Formats: sequence, structure tokens, C-alpha cells
Amino acid sequence: MLVRGSKIAEVRPNIATTDAEVIDASRSIVMPGFIDTHRHMWQGILRNIIPDASLSEYFQVVQRTVGPAYTPDDLYISNYVSALGAIDVGITNILDWSHIQNTPEHTDAAIKGLADSGVRAVFAYGSPANGLPRFWEDPRQKYPGDIARLRKQYFSSGDQLMTLALASITGPHDRVIESWKTARDVGARITMHVGIGNITKDFLKKLGDDGLMRSDNTYIHCCTLSDEEWKLIKDTGGTLSVAGYVELMMGHGTPPIQKAIDMGVRPSLSIDVETSVPGDMFTQMRTVLSLQRGQIWERSLKGEKELPAFLKARDVLEFATVEGAKANGLDSKIGTLTPGKEADIILLRTDRISVMPRNNAVGAVVTSMSPANVDTVLIGGQVKKRDGQLVGVDVARIGKLLDESRDRTLAAAKYERAKL
Ligand SMILES: [Zn+2]
Repeated sequence: MLVRGSKIAEVRPNIATTDAEVIDASRSIVMPGFIDTHRHMWQGILRNIIPDASLSEYFQVVQRTVGPAYTPDDLYISNYVSALGAIDVGITNILDWSHIQNTPEHTDAAIKGLADSGVRAVFAYGSPANGLPRFWEDPRQKYPGDIARLRKQYFSSGDQLMTLALASITGPHDRVIESWKTARDVGARITMHVGIGNITKDFLKKLGDDGLMRSDNTYIHCCTLSDEEWKLIKDTGGTLSVAGYVELMMGHGTPPIQKAIDMGVRPSLSIDVETSVPGDMFTQMRTVLSLQRGQIWERSLKGEKELPAFLKARDVLEFATVEGAKANGLDSKIGTLTPGKEADIILLRTDRISVMPRNNAVGAVVTSMSPANVDTVLIGGQVKKRDGQLVGVDVARIGKLLDESRDRTLAAAKYERAKL
């Protein structure tokens, strides 16, 4: 594979060049970087803090108690470390679902954290976490109108590493409509949470009835949608983000992996919250693969005939790459190793004792590998990780900043974390 500038120039045997730097991939699997289509990266200082939380406990602790105490500096270091963590595990493109826009200064800090990491980010501008039932009554917050400033100030070029989206609120209905119009006026895609327990019941149907659902929408979770709502997604060309691990852990409903396939929608995958979810795509791939197969086997054991096909390892690898590129609106640029696309490439080591011998490339990635195999990461042709180490990152310094930020934020929020 030949990379020229930020792009993949050639993929074929025996490429002859004299002036290229050579990266030896002979003991690796080379594949497109993983793509995460929804993560609340502002929770970087809160990783693994509530491993046993339900959705309602998460809302109470993270969004209502701790979120309002965040300063712009806390948001910066959180986004920075969450983005570096993504690169470290081979995620080259990630959508930051940023519903902590407490002030425009918070927004600027969030964007800077992403930019400083060098990840290919979709910044999805969201509402504040200000602890108010009616968040818009806080005069310091500017959702959704500030997205127009962001388009001008940070996202004016179509040819840059970071792109802009709207992280949509889920109510009240007239405010949702207003925010979608504001996003579409500046050409931003729209991502939103739907089909979670009974929280967002019939919400999507109303938007569909108003004719507002389009192919620029990504729908997250979708565990409890009606068939009518699924049909609206399919018919309007929307994309899907399944966060299987969190859905099983926190009570969203069963991950709709089979439902999506039945309805003709190929899902992308996402991590969601690092407060209780591992930050890598290996976990996500194996979660939906084992869940779908388990469900089909269960039906088979009960005597059902003419069952849907089992998912295969290659399916979930596609969900974690090319389907992610579609959901993030970037499939013309990334998601596959195709000449002309951006060089977002990862090398996964196969000469590790836990993986060898090399038998089946897709099988190795989906079955045997973990973040420990991520040796080299390129984003837009730039080497971000090499020989298993992030390039140009002072881990000790970041650790210190995280501890300080976490201690300050939790103290300001009067929240005491359980340490064991
Ligand atoms: Zn989420």
C-alpha cells in the first residue's frame, strides 16, 4: 500500500518507490481504522466511575450532578484523553456526541481537545448539562444557534480532519424542530438518541409525520422503536448506531441488531459512555455478534424453522468500519482501503502469542484480538501510533491533569466516587 500525502495512492503487490518511508507490515493485518459513531467524549475524566450503573443512575450522577460542575478546562482534557484513547485502540474516526455545551467557552475547549489529539472527529454540538429541567432557561447556553458560529469559525472547509454535526435534543417537539432547522441551515448532519426504554416513545413517529426525517439523520440505540418508526428510517435513508454493550448493561432495551437486519438497515457501532463501557471496537463487535447468534440459536432450540441467517465475523467488521463511515457522513473519504480515500489505516500485530498462527484474517481480528494488538495507527497519512506507542503524547503529564480535573470537578459537584 502506498500513501501519498493524506491519501491512499495504491493498493497492490510489488509497489516500487525510491523515496517513501517504509513501514513493515509483514507481521500485521492491515485494515481501515475502526469508526465509532457515538461517544460522549466529555466523560474522559469519568472513565469507569460507575461500572454498575443503570441508565437512570447514569443520568443522575453524570448529567445532572457532575456535568454542571465542568469548566472548559475539564472538557478540554476529557475530550483530549478520550480521543487519544480512541487512537490507541485503533479508532481513527469518532463522533463526539457532546451534550455539555454549558457555555460557548465549553464548546471551544471541546473542539480544541479533539483537534490537539489529531483524531478524525465529527464534533456533534449538543445541549448543555446544566442540571435544569428546562436547559434553555440558562442565559449562558446557546443551543442550538451557536452551531452557526462553529460552522464559520472551525468548520468552514469541506476538506479538513474535523467535521460538524448536531447532537439533537429529544424534546420538546417544537425545540427539536427548531434545532434541526438550525443544523440543516448550516449543512450539519443530525444525530439523536431514540428507542430507549419508554423514554422516547413515539418521538420519532412525530418527526416522520412532519416529514423531517432524512438521510442526514443517524439514530442511536433504537431498542424499542415501533415497526412504523423502523420503516421511516429505512424509507428516508437514515443510518443507525447500535451501542450493544451499554444497551445490555444499562437498560435501554435489547440491542436491535436482528431487528435492524430484518428491516433492511445495516448498523454502525458505538461505545457511548466510558463511565461503564470499554473504549474499543473489539468489545462492540463481539457483543453484537454473540448476541445475534445467541438469539437465533435460542429460536432454533425452541423448534422454529426458516430462521434469519447468522451474522458472520465479516459482518461485524463492516459494521465497525464502513458502516461507521456512512453513519458519520464520511464514506466517500474513509471506511475502506481504497485508492483515493484518506489514509486512515491500522496495523494489527499477528505475531503475538495470543493470536498466532495466522489462519484467517477476519477471524483473527474479530475472534482473537484486543487493543493490545494495535501496533500502528495512521490518520490522514500521519502516523499517530507506532510500535505500540502513541506518537508525541506525554502520558504521565496527561495522567496528572486528569487526576486534578477529576478531583476538582467531583468536589465542585459534591459527588463522592466509590473507589472499590
Ligand atoms: Zn449516548
